[in-house]
Amino acid sequence: MRKKNAFGKVITATSAACAVGLLLAGCGAANTDTAGGKPHITIMVNTGSTQISPGKQGWAKELAKEAGVDITWQNTGDSAWTNQRNAILASGDLADITIRGFSPSDAQRNAGAFEDLSKDLDKLPNVQAFFKAKPLARKLVEKDGTIYTLPSSRGKAYQASGQHMLINKAWLDKLGLEVPKTWDELTKVLEAFKTQDPNGNGEADEYPIDLRPLDTSNLGNWWSPFLFLNSTGIVTQFNNGPSSSGIYVENGKVKNWAISDEFRQVIEYLHQLTADGLAPSTWVTKQIDTYWNEIKGDGEKVGKVGVLFTWDQSNIANWGTSLNEEYIGIPVPAAPGVSQSEVVWDASREYNEYEDYKLSMSANTKYKDACLKVINLLYSEKYSVQQLRGTISEGYLKQDGHTYTVEQKFYDAANEGKTPALEDRLAGWIPDDVTIVNDTAADSMQKIDRVYDDQYANYDMTKDAMPIYVRLDSADTNTFANNNAAIYDYAIPVISSWIVKGGLDDASWNAYVKQLKSLNIDQNTEMWQKAYDEQVK
Ligand code: MG
Repeated sequence: MRKKNAFGKVITATSAACAVGLLLAGCGAANTDTAGGKPHITIMVNTGSTQISPGKQGWAKELAKEAGVDITWQNTGDSAWTNQRNAILASGDLADITIRGFSPSDAQRNAGAFEDLSKDLDKLPNVQAFFKAKPLARKLVEKDGTIYTLPSSRGKAYQASGQHMLINKAWLDKLGLEVPKTWDELTKVLEAFKTQDPNGNGEADEYPIDLRPLDTSNLGNWWSPFLFLNSTGIVTQFNNGPSSSGIYVENGKVKNWAISDEFRQVIEYLHQLTADGLAPSTWVTKQIDTYWNEIKGDGEKVGKVGVLFTWDQSNIANWGTSLNEEYIGIPVPAAPGVSQSEVVWDASREYNEYEDYKLSMSANTKYKDACLKVINLLYSEKYSVQQLRGTISEGYLKQDGHTYTVEQKFYDAANEGKTPALEDRLAGWIPDDVTIVNDTAADSMQKIDRVYDDQYANYDMTKDAMPIYVRLDSADTNTFANNNAAIYDYAIPVISSWIVKGGLDDASWNAYVKQLKSLNIDQNTEMWQKAYDEQVK
């Protein structure tokens, strides 16, 4: 009898009980010596949907050989892992090593099941070197001297925000217009896009600016129209962290942008764009799929959207198409009364380079030294680069000293849905002296992100943004979540109505601020101020 196990692999009936038991109650097969007498360990990896099993990736076989260890690689995907994670934590029975499975707070709450790797650093010289070169990486995972999870770094090439503002430069050129530097100039450009048929198809089918619908589970998220806050001098961090709940930092003082005068200014501008027909009238509440369809135009040659917030041009049309090439990244224009030297841009770049939940080790492994040997190799340059972009001996990556070139063979495999690497899911560290040539994801991200260098220079990453290592303790995390649930329930419909219908005046604004204060929005700020003051050193 054959059936699928929890990881979607076909297995025989006789091994099914063992495979499930391995997760939930322990399975003898994982921790018995093999015939060759080598330690035998199990590594669970949460892989991406197009990645082949790590056990079939060449670097993984070479690493096992070099460590003198037999490794059983298991892999699971994001949604399966979401379903399994709590049961595994409750059972306390972890795989010997888990890659991209457990967050620092998962481990803190179940500390008995996790190895405190701070005590093993003498056997992890590559991790020590990582922490020495990147003190921020250690801060991400260390709490009261314990380290239950190891972070990753994809290297400096990935230091870039995931948030960018794009404009159709071909339309600007055709209409003889410049890149707008202020909201007033932007409005004029959008009016021209609306009325002058810049895509040249004889139809008034353009969306001068298109905006992502508002979320109901946060105030600001990836590619939120509230990125316009940066036009006013408020620094967002919409990749991750408390910025999505309104938290921001200005000269060491934590505040909430949802009750700021600057946010009111952004709402008023978004209302003006919507009321004037420069943004689709339905944008606030439409389905996200509708948005994705609108911005794609015909996907090849004829564009529909003039301005948008997104990752890069590939969200509109594939690289190599003429439509893709019509768009450029631009600095965010200044709000009225704000000088160019006060305009800032989203401070998410460290979220893109680092992740704090990349590797954990079971406290109960039978083969502790073997596990540490494997972990140390994973964090070497040699295996980090191969985790990221495929195996050198298989021809996916070419090495020349500390310079590596990603070969077309890697992209061909990825395009077939058979990516031979862990990519961003790596448990490793790409040191700053490593150069990876033809890493298209990093190359396009860097190119578009450099547009913001002047705006990045207008603030300090520590004094004017929440450092990514600052966290609330577990009691405050719960309070923050509960406060936010009530705040979102009240605020999002009010904000939506102001944008769509208008009616934002002093009286309604004051009532809104008063209501948010009664829903403890100031307590949120105080908790983050306390965490910031304690953790920023
Ligand atoms: Mg047209």
